[in-house]
Amino acid sequence: MENHKNNIKCAYLLKGIPISPGIAISKVFVLQDEAVKIEPTVIDESQIEGEIDKFKQAVAKAKLELRTLQTRVAHRIGEENAKIFDVHQLLLEDSLIIEETISSIKREFKSADHAFYDTMEKFQHTLDDSSIDFFQSRIPDLKDIKKRVIKHIQGDRTDYLNKLEGSAVIVAIDLTPSDTVKLDRHKVRGFATDLGGRTTHVAIMARSMEVPAVVGLRRIARIVNEGDRIIIDGSKGHVLINPDEKTIQHYRKLREKYYDIETRLAEIRDLPCITLDGKEIELSANLEFSDEVESAKTHGARGIGLYRTDYIYLAGSALPTEDEQYHEYKKIVEKMTPEPVIVRTMDVGGDKQPKSFTIPPEENPFLGWRAIRISIERPDIFEVQLRAMLRASQHGNLKILLPMISGLEEIIECKAALERAKSELRKKKIPFDENVELGVMIEVPSAALLADKIAREVDFLSIGTNDLVQYLLAVDRGNERIAYLYKHLHPAVLRAIKQIIAAGHQEGVWVGMCGEMASDPLATLILLGLDLDEFSVTPTSVPEIKKIIRSVDYREAVRVANKALEFSKASEVERFMTKVMRQKFKDIKT
Ligand code: PEP
Ligand code: MG
Repeated sequence: MENHKNNIKCAYLLKGIPISPGIAISKVFVLQDEAVKIEPTVIDESQIEGEIDKFKQAVAKAKLELRTLQTRVAHRIGEENAKIFDVHQLLLEDSLIIEETISSIKREFKSADHAFYDTMEKFQHTLDDSSIDFFQSRIPDLKDIKKRVIKHIQGDRTDYLNKLEGSAVIVAIDLTPSDTVKLDRHKVRGFATDLGGRTTHVAIMARSMEVPAVVGLRRIARIVNEGDRIIIDGSKGHVLINPDEKTIQHYRKLREKYYDIETRLAEIRDLPCITLDGKEIELSANLEFSDEVESAKTHGARGIGLYRTDYIYLAGSALPTEDEQYHEYKKIVEKMTPEPVIVRTMDVGGDKQPKSFTIPPEENPFLGWRAIRISIERPDIFEVQLRAMLRASQHGNLKILLPMISGLEEIIECKAALERAKSELRKKKIPFDENVELGVMIEVPSAALLADKIAREVDFLSIGTNDLVQYLLAVDRGNERIAYLYKHLHPAVLRAIKQIIAAGHQEGVWVGMCGEMASDPLATLILLGLDLDEFSVTPTSVPEIKKIIRSVDYREAVRVANKALEFSKASEVERFMTKVMRQKFKDIKT
């Protein structure tokens, strides 16, 4: 592939959705789809029994999983459609498959996954060679069973991810939060995936790790090989595979330029976030992991506007204890004191599958049993977390934030749970901040419409645009195919935000934003003009957003916001804001 204008030469130049800025020049580490990556391993005689046992347990787990799936499918779309699972169950009981696998563990000293993989491949080839349609049509079933059992033998892909040696760019079809949570983050130079949109969790993760990332590349996982050279331009959404030396030099220069701008922005780190005419704005940072608190401080964030506690539930196979959580929260609160740290209660479900408890498969997980819905049903999880937060509150300025609230009933339930957690601590004479503030994320359209009533129940509101945009526009935030529809500058989104802020202020509570929209320089003047009180952004975006706020009059921002709200299309708002920003700022990456 050649691009004469920039003298770019490489085997492939792919364009995707830029989700985390910066330039990475590194080698590829391919994360295979599902768990079908087998590393042929020769085992010792002493390991044979253990491997056989592992295999048998994996088969049992796969059977159980299939039974649950079968019942659900039968219930939702009829017995006829559920019959396919009978075939899968039969395959799992096939004595030839079972015996052949066990025999190759025993005789050929293969690990369980390797032995099962080879057995299934052999069966597949026999069916492949058959001229009978019926047998050929069973091949997808064999493949499904192969993946399912191997997944259970290997545990999950995170173990494989741990094998990452040296630094690399992670390339995958998709990356789930459970995949990324165990990565050795010091070795990751960037991410490039086939699937995903601007606010998928890999995007949030990449920005918080301060590495460039491009998603929605559609075919990168198929065309790269492990060890290929790769360049990622996370600002433009370009990915180059096996570039020549001249191209690498060109990108090294671009990388230097990028860091120069970053350094200049860092100079305003300790200056207040205040407009030219004196309106002060709370500028804080979002945290994915507790160890990022330093990065938030070095980039000049005042407080933490959103600490996602989800990784605590995604990483370990046991539920986190009250003490473990208390120490984690206390660490952050103490480091930030006296500034606020807003800790969000567990927000798993959707694409975030915890390892510590099971969320049964659902047809619409983003509309399903997730976040606060789980917490309310599971006081054994929720109240443990609330007690840990309350205990940490005595060490500084901690506030509690509730995700995915869709109506008042949920808030009432959560307040009751908080009261129970408090009285439990009082009974044990454990100190906590009696006046700890409680806030609600406005990220479901029903909550946006009820913002005034919600505001009466709590101390603050925080707008979660990542979900609000997906639910308001009915656009899956992780689907690259419809990513062109996912627009936070959509007039309907702007109207909703205007209404939420006004409702909060009318009821006397402050309103912040912790969704990724707050980190978008194109949106800053609109949000400022709509009177948003707090911007909680990716740590690396703090200097850029501060620079914009420090360079304008609040009154000017109000004019810009009013004008932006007159447009009927997202594209018009984007064009208008790009023009405004280009005129005012040269450094800002619009
Ligand atoms: C949001 O939805 O805007 C948000 C901040 O939460 P998350 O991205 O964790 O869903
Ligand atoms: Mg959300």
